[in-house]
Amino acid sequence: MTEARTPSAIDEPVDLLVSGAVLVATVDDERREIPGGWVAITDGFVVAVGPPGEEPEATEVLRADGCLVTPGLINTHHHIYQNLTRAYRPAVNGDLFTWLTTLYPKWSRLDEESAYLSAWVGLAELAVGGCTTTTDHLYVHPHHAGDLITAEIAAATELGMRFHPTRGSMSLSEKDGGLPPDSVVQDDDEILADSERLVKQHHDPSHGAMVRIALAPCSPFSVTPELMRETAVLAERLDVRLHTHLAEDPDEDVYCLETFGVRPLEHFESVGWGTDRAWVAHCIYPNPEEVARMGSWGTGVAHCPSSNMMIGGGGIAPVADFRAAGVPVGLGCDGSASTDSASLWMEARNAMLLGRLRLGPASTGARDALEIATRGSAACLGREGELGVLAPGSVGDLVCWPLEGLAFAGALSDPIEAWLRCGPVAARHTVVAGRPVVRDGELTAPGLEDVLARHTTAALAMQAD
Ligand SMILES: [Zn+2]
Repeated sequence: MTEARTPSAIDEPVDLLVSGAVLVATVDDERREIPGGWVAITDGFVVAVGPPGEEPEATEVLRADGCLVTPGLINTHHHIYQNLTRAYRPAVNGDLFTWLTTLYPKWSRLDEESAYLSAWVGLAELAVGGCTTTTDHLYVHPHHAGDLITAEIAAATELGMRFHPTRGSMSLSEKDGGLPPDSVVQDDDEILADSERLVKQHHDPSHGAMVRIALAPCSPFSVTPELMRETAVLAERLDVRLHTHLAEDPDEDVYCLETFGVRPLEHFESVGWGTDRAWVAHCIYPNPEEVARMGSWGTGVAHCPSSNMMIGGGGIAPVADFRAAGVPVGLGCDGSASTDSASLWMEARNAMLLGRLRLGPASTGARDALEIATRGSAACLGREGELGVLAPGSVGDLVCWPLEGLAFAGALSDPIEAWLRCGPVAARHTVVAGRPVVRDGELTAPGLEDVLARHTTAALAMQAD
């Protein structure tokens, strides 16, 4: 960690000064909120935050007038390729298993070009919505499709986004009692070898890394227990994180009891995944005893409120119980064919609304949602203190959210509550590693129109009969 410095100790101009904010919500260890505050970034890291009147000299100044400044929001669960089949009519009202079996044959058409285009679109959409770091869970690797994850990383690099792609996998097809068709599954050895190759090629363990890889067998009903076990061993050896879906639907309880004779979380534990190396998506249906066990392991949860309301079987994830039990809880938008939209502002708002629906208005405020989307998500990714806070030594990832115009008229007393209750709101500026990825609401990377046109062509091909 960079040593904390006061502005008077900054003798060189900083690279970027974000100043003039209505409020800077640092979400740091003291949860400091600084009216009129500023953030100074050099070499991609925050060097100081402070109150008005103490701003250091800067090479570049980004004005945040009228804005709430927060750490960049962090997305802990997504399937970006699914934006090629958004709101796909034959699947929109299916339950989870029906929805999946309708879409698997379309997704079997994924290739490097469509993976690149979907990543470009998905990451750009997230950036405009105030996300600075995202995971992706790409678990469809059709035969001869090429190196899909390297294609995604190319898009992230072009856009300047911090990216944690996970090497997803499916190995249990219909003929072996699983859900997906043969065309989209691979055998265990092929999956493990490719996982190791991707880690060696792309994973950066250093402080401030822009790309990290995690390993992510898809779900209990699409991979073998052996693959789960061997993936956990490989992750330990390579020192990378583990991710999967867990307890997303009541049907999964039935499947696990019939197939393995145990509940989903017991299965998860039996294959060696009950560790703080793992974070799981959804986790709507654990019982109280299972919540406590997850807390003792330190296994994280990617809470995906919109997706859960769309397709999660009618339950509400016990977020407050998780947090009370010491389970790290982050935020996820989930795949673009279940949520269909990828705005972490919306996910934060929906997390707040679902928390209040479940436990009443005193249970969950905007600060809880902001904390889940920043510190909680960083903990899921094993990057506490590095991501998700604005403090000296943390990465220079932040968002300036405009609190202006019709939707914010009269919201004068609490900029953080206003941010999530009023709106909708998108980022005015999104900064990653000290570089604006979105400036004045527009992507700074060129090529949006061209990418959108090519994405439409790829989506038409995927959706064709
Ligand atoms: Zn998912």
